[in-house]
This record gives sequence, structure tokens and C-alpha cells, in this order.
Amino acid sequence: MRIPFVAGNWKMNTTATEAEKLVIEMLDKLDRIEGVEKVLCPPFVSLVALNMMLQGSSIKLGAQNMYFETEGAYTGEISPLMLSELCEFVILGHSERRWYFGETDEIVNKKVKAALSNKLKPILCVGERLEENEADKTEEVINRQVSAALNVIEPVSNLVIAYEPVWAIGTGKAASGKQAAATIQFIRDVLAKLWNKNIAQDLRILYGGSVTSANVAEFISLPEIDGALVGGASLKAEEFVNIVKQTAEIKGRIK
Ligand code: PEP
Repeated sequence: MRIPFVAGNWKMNTTATEAEKLVIEMLDKLDRIEGVEKVLCPPFVSLVALNMMLQGSSIKLGAQNMYFETEGAYTGEISPLMLSELCEFVILGHSERRWYFGETDEIVNKKVKAALSNKLKPILCVGERLEENEADKTEEVINRQVSAALNVIEPVSNLVIAYEPVWAIGTGKAASGKQAAATIQFIRDVLAKLWNKNIAQDLRILYGGSVTSANVAEFISLPEIDGALVGGASLKAEEFVNIVKQTAEIKGRIK
């Protein structure tokens, strides 16, 4: 039984003051929704304050990135050990990290290993670019990214994967539910070969890319898709609460 999962990736948005205000706006409503694992991923500078604000609630915290070393002379970096006191999850391999900051599959693999050894749960993002999609290379790219990110890692259950086609992120052009479900099923097949069938069945795989309250039902109503990684729409309290609420209702119905 895979518990539905919705995470909000705030990206490089919200000052510390704005982040607290946003949490105040959504806290009670979000907290009351049952049957969905709810995660907020604010910028690093808000993790301490939000960690305190969310104590005693059902809402969890995640970071958006981290370095793979535990400590040392890496000016400006944040380590998995530091994050492990503040949050449960960490987004790794987001396409904005891969394409703007040159994160390779090898770096993502080191980060996944480091997160797991510091008891952080990775939300591993994979997804093809538009030209790869148009050249029918989606499965090839996804296979490479998943296999490389999990290379030499023993099967683990505390990992979430997000399928985020790069062409759908922040563009308002979401994939269709059918397309997303097919690729997510493919990811499950890759996991079954790489690890084993049981773990492939147990891991949550999300869709991400221009998810809003208007289209979330198209994804969530498909059994292959266990939830959503939401960017832009997670910055509006009402919109994010609505997305989580629909997820709870729809997944509750198709259990
Ligand atoms: C994301 O940043 O992971 C994302 C999916 O963004 P958006 O929802 O804005 O497309």
C-alpha cells in the first residue's frame, strides 16, 4: 500500500518572513487532511523557523538540495548532516540543478548515497528534455538517470522518485496523465530490474511539471501515479491545499 505523497518545491522563492506567512496561511487546513504525506520544501534559510512552526503537525519538511560531503572546507555548501536535524526529505537531481548548475548523474548518485547514510529521504527527480522527448529518447534517458542515481546502492524503501519532464516544469504545459503514467510504469520496471519487484512495487513515484488544482486529478486518478511534486502552485496556500485535498479524496476513493 503506497501512501500518496505531495511535496511543494518553493524553489528560490520566499524570504524568511514570506515563508513563515505562507506556512501560517496553509498550516491548519493542510494539517487536517489525512491519508497523504505532505511535505514543504522551502529555501534553506527558512528550514529552522519552519521546523519549529511545524512541530506537532502532520506536515513534514524537505530541503531542495545538499552537498554530498558531511562537513569540511566547502564554502557555501549545506551538508546532509546539517539537514538531518531540520528535515526528513531532500530533493535531489532536480532538473534545475542538473541544467543550471551542472549536476551530473555521478554527482546525483553521490548525493543520494550521502542523504541515505545521514537518514534523509531523497526525493530523486528524473526527466527528459524536450529534444529527447521529441527524439523518442524518454525511456533511454530515464533508464540512465535512475540507474546512475541508484548505482551501487542497496534497495531502500525510504526513497521517493519524481518523474518531471523538463519541458513541463514551469511552462504551464503539463504532460498528459497517460504519458506520465506510462513513464512512471517504466521507472517501476527499471527499479524491478535494478533492485527487485517488491521494492519497485513499494516505492512512491510522483509526477511533477505544471501541476495545478485544475489538472492534478488527471494524474492522481491513475493508479501508477502516487502523488505530485508541485513547484509554482505550491506558493499559493489555497492552491496547494486544494491539490493535497484532491489527492486525499481521489486516492481515498481508488484504494
Ligand atoms: C518543480 O519545480 O519541481 C516543478 C514541478 O515546478 P512546476 O510545478 O512549477 O512546473
